[in-house]
Amino acid sequence: MFNLDVRSVILVAGVLSLLMALVLFFLRRSFPPSIRGLGEWAAAPAIIFVSTLLFGARGAIPDLLSVVLANMLLLGGAVLMYFGSQRFFNLAPSLRLWSGLLVLALLALSWFALVEPHYGVRVAIVGGLMSLIALAHARLILHHGPRAFSSNFAGGAQLLLALSQAMRGLSAFDLAAGDRILDNTLPTQTVYVTLNAFTILMTTIGMVLMATDRLRAEIEYLASHDTLTGALSRRVLIDACEQELERCRRKGRSMSLLMIDLDNFKAINDAYGHLAGDRVLVDFTGRAKAALRRPDRFGRFGGEEFVALLPETSLDEALVVAERIRAEVANATTEQGYTVSIGVAGSRADDDTVDAILSRADTAMYAAKAAGRNCVRPAG
Ligand code: GH3
Ligand code: MG
Ligand code: MG
Repeated sequence: MFNLDVRSVILVAGVLSLLMALVLFFLRRSFPPSIRGLGEWAAAPAIIFVSTLLFGARGAIPDLLSVVLANMLLLGGAVLMYFGSQRFFNLAPSLRLWSGLLVLALLALSWFALVEPHYGVRVAIVGGLMSLIALAHARLILHHGPRAFSSNFAGGAQLLLALSQAMRGLSAFDLAAGDRILDNTLPTQTVYVTLNAFTILMTTIGMVLMATDRLRAEIEYLASHDTLTGALSRRVLIDACEQELERCRRKGRSMSLLMIDLDNFKAINDAYGHLAGDRVLVDFTGRAKAALRRPDRFGRFGGEEFVALLPETSLDEALVVAERIRAEVANATTEQGYTVSIGVAGSRADDDTVDAILSRADTAMYAAKAAGRNCVRPAG
């Protein structure tokens, strides 16, 4: 067996957590402000590292620092990490509950360290509270995080921390008064303390991964969606059409496209201003999406022109959907009333292309305009 020195192992885990904190600190500076909680995530391991140093200096410095302050920094760091996760998931930190618990912990720890010293009671208090914080933290991450390695890793680490700290708290009832932390004659205690250091390191690694996952998701979203309306970008919609058409060829199915153009949109802009025009575009996107089914895709093609892809839908069925969208818009009581003209085209057997279907839908849309607008026309 390796002859591991527990203090060194804990110190190494602490230094690694500190490096992860540094990574989180720099991520916070370069990531968009929409990704929140990174500041708390960066500060927490640093605070916990200071607590590790204070624990290590036990005997060399007053108990007020090596016991009371060290434990409070450990608990405070764990709570701060939890607050960071709450902010990361855009939730309000539950300040009152946890700061209340921390004040109670401070009073109890001061009493059992300075007035009536009792190691076992202190272990029970800190173990119990750490377990509670970690359990709440694990629940938060596993509940709100995506089913990805990053959040499973961070949540799993907190679960492990909760378990080991609960066992540590329970084990306290066997401890005699006066026993010391990091005492090598207490092997189970050193296991808990080591697990504490490693699960916190694992959590910080998980947080770095969660933050980069979130950034990637945001960038992917920005690249594939129109910023104003949130509809799919032209490129993504055409890609989806290509894939669907390929599926149609293989399985002998049909798909349809709706080419939708807002009527007299220039007049709306001219009369009410460009911002009011923008609001109409957003309003229309909401209504159109609500009228479509789950597998349907909806994209902004440019200006005030939109395309809907309806997989496994015949031309006749697509006409019904188009009419539903037209009527929904025409009957809506919005800030600025508006209407749409829709051209509908279905895929044809074998050698059809997306360009050809789009072009037929476009021609049909112009036919709807020529017919007086606010109507639906099928491709000839
Ligand atoms: P028609 O019924 O024939 O389609 O007439 P129209 O006025 O809707 O068509 P036209 O192509 O003449 O005008 C489109 C207008 O859409 C012109 C342009 O300024 C406006 N537009 C394009 N993109 C945006 C946008 O993002 N926001 C706003 N507010 N207006 C936009
Ligand atoms: Mg128009
Ligand atoms: Mg247009």
